[in-house]
Parts: sequence; C-alpha cells; structure tokens
Amino acid sequence: MSNLKISNSLTRSKDLFKPINPKNITMYVCGPTVYANPHVGNGRSLIVFDLLYRVLIKLYGKKNITYVRNITDVDDKIIETSKSKNISIDKITSDVTKIFHKNSKDLNCLEPTLEPKATDHIQEMITMTKSLIEKKLAYINNGHVYFLISEFNNYGKLSNKKLDHLVAGSRVEISKLKKNPLDFILWKPASEDELGWNSPWGRGRPGWHLECSVMSEKYLGKNFDIHGGGLDLIFPHHENEIAQSCANNSTDILANYWVHNGFLTLDKEKMSKSLGNIETISEVLEKYNGQVIRIALLSAHYKQPLEWGDNLLEQSKATLEKWYELYDEVETKTDNSEIFSCLLDDLNTPKYFAKLHELYNVASKGDKIKRVEFNDACRLIGIFNQKKDVLVKQKQDASNVDKKYILQKIEERTKARKVGDFKLADRIRDELFKNGIAIKDKDNKTEWEYK
Ligand SMILES: [Zn+2]
Repeated sequence: MSNLKISNSLTRSKDLFKPINPKNITMYVCGPTVYANPHVGNGRSLIVFDLLYRVLIKLYGKKNITYVRNITDVDDKIIETSKSKNISIDKITSDVTKIFHKNSKDLNCLEPTLEPKATDHIQEMITMTKSLIEKKLAYINNGHVYFLISEFNNYGKLSNKKLDHLVAGSRVEISKLKKNPLDFILWKPASEDELGWNSPWGRGRPGWHLECSVMSEKYLGKNFDIHGGGLDLIFPHHENEIAQSCANNSTDILANYWVHNGFLTLDKEKMSKSLGNIETISEVLEKYNGQVIRIALLSAHYKQPLEWGDNLLEQSKATLEKWYELYDEVETKTDNSEIFSCLLDDLNTPKYFAKLHELYNVASKGDKIKRVEFNDACRLIGIFNQKKDVLVKQKQDASNVDKKYILQKIEERTKARKVGDFKLADRIRDELFKNGIAIKDKDNKTEWEYK
C-alpha cells in the first residue's frame, strides 16, 4: 500500500488512496470536447492529471495502471461551430484533436492508456438508455429520453447540494418535456440534415453525460478507483454520470475517489471559452517553452484557483532557466523519497517546488549527489525532458532579430497607442514577444530586451 493521500470530492476529505486492485489501478479523466483549440485552463486539468498519473506510475508501475481519457466528438457546441463556420463536423473534430495531441506533447504529458471517442460508442449508449427505460429509470417524451432523477436517492451527493439548490443553479436546462427540472437528457432528436444516429426513439444523438458512463464502464468496470476533471464538471456532469451508472447497475458507488482541479483565472475571473477571456495553449507555446507552462500551471496547489498572466509566465521562465544551469543529460534514478513525499500529500506542488529550490541551492555549490537528486526530481514532474541546447537555441534565435526591425515595430506601436488603437499596439507587442523581444513602458519611453 502507498501513502498517497488525495482530496476526494465525494467524501470532502483528504483520503488515503487504497486501490481496488494494486495490479490494475483504474483512472478515468474527462477529456476535451473537440470544437475549439484548447486553452490554458484546459491545459491545467491536462497537466494536473498527468502529474497524478506520473505519481501512480512511480508507486505502482506503468503496466499496472489503466488511464482512460475520452474525446468528446459529438456535442451541441461542435454542431454549432460547424454551422457558424461552415466547416464539416469531421474536419473540426479531427483538426482540434490533432492540435490537442500536439499541445499535450509540447507540454510533455504522457499519453493515456486509452483514448476512446464518443462517436465510437453510440451503440453502447443506446443500449444503456434502453436498459434505463426498461428499469423505469428513464422516460421517453417526444423523441427525447430523460433520466428520472426522482428514482435515484443519492442525487446531489457529489456536489453536496440539496435538490432545490441544484434547481436554482443556472446549469439546469428548462424544458416542458421534463417531469422534474433536474431530469437530464440521455437522448435527443436530430433532424435528417443534422448529425445523428438511428435509435428505437428515432434519429438523434446522445446527451453528453452518457458517454463517460459508457466508456468508463467498458474500459474500467462498474466500480473503479479515480475519476477526475475540472471543478466545473462536478455538477451536472459528474453528478449525472453517477446517477445513470449507479442506477443502471444497482451499485452504490461509481468511482471511489473524485478528484477535481481548480480554475485558472484571468483578472480574477474564471478562464472560459464562453466568457471569451482565454489564451489558447498554442498561443502561449509560441511565446514560451512547454516546460515554462508546466511550471506555471503546477505552481499553485491543484485545488486552488491560479491567476494566469505574463507575471506568472516570466517567473516560471526565469525558474526554468535557472534550473537548467544544473541540467545533466544522463538520467540517473536516486532515492528521492523525501521530496516525493510532498506529492504523496495531495500533490502538494508548492511544497515540492520549495524543496526543489533548496536542492538547487545545495547542488549549485558543487554537491554532486544533490545535483543528481535535483535532476531526478525535475524529471519526476515532467520537466528536463529537452536537452539544454534546445533552450539555449531559443535564446540565440531571439538575439538574431534585427535591431532595426525592433525599433521600427516599437515606433509603430507608439503611434498606435497615441491614436488609441490599443489592439494594434498589443498585437505588435505580441509579435515582438514571439520573436524573443520583451518590451516595457517606462517614463513615456519604451525599453526592450531579449527575453
Ligand atoms: Zn466526462
């Protein structure tokens, strides 16, 4: 048994992790809905669960873990995007999936064991819906199939809310077709020209929650160890997964540990596509190395909100550059149990980073054993995956930028600012940044430096 403790949303406490079977640890994480380029808020979830996966690998061995992360490739948002941009659904989902995979790789995230797609599991979703109807846990109304929450006693247990509070929440779809406002959709009708599949209730498509119930059961079983996702998925998504799976299987529990990561904020507001305050992972990767983003996203404890921005990125970049002074190409495994214990305590990355700084300080004074420990500890959290010359080259590329070009761009930016075109001014700043030039406005003057 390990000493891993993890915050469990289901029990609302930090619980000792006891796997159902240490020879097959099972983890399901809700993956991306592939309709738009993933933003750094999505990236936080990706990296937090990658870290948990790495910790589990160290404790139990990779071959003993099944990590499933799905791809949601059927969803209203995908259909809306396809209509508004006049691009086929297939093209949108395959393009965005490719970008997501590239981003994951650039952020040095390990691939999950399995990555099932929703559209490959439509028949299983129909079968589950049929079963729920037969058990009188779901009803059909006008081509729609709804889950009947009054038949499920534990509804609200995960989000720890009383039913009337949930109804008052904004995320419940209002419809006259429902018996109870909290009943949620299992199957919805689709017209002939819309994305859809034939079913006993007519042509249509599944509701979002159903896919995770079907795919987690298919690959991990009716009861598995860990279910993860962003904090905003607790209700209704995860609550509904539990309701339909447990009701259908007559079980008490779906996953034993429910792990949720906090939001990324921009000016204290949650970063989300619907609010429009997003930065895509690809955009940030144009300016910073993936390891910088990794350090930035792990700098706060995963449950806490994390304020995103240039300050955080610049700090993380400085940290990475400093740490790379002690980078050794040869990988050596050492006994790093002391620093690793920080991760065993609910993935306490701030404490881990503090210890890494301490290790760095001792190692930089010439302590060779500590230097090996330091390198090993960096690799453990997914950094030091690139050779030193990759980082050095990025810096050199920046110093090759023509000075005339820099001054010309600064002048253009000053002009844009004078006439109040701050959008253009920001664009120019970003362009310079992309080329490795950072600028600062000081006493009515603009100064620049190589990043
Ligand atoms: Zn899900």
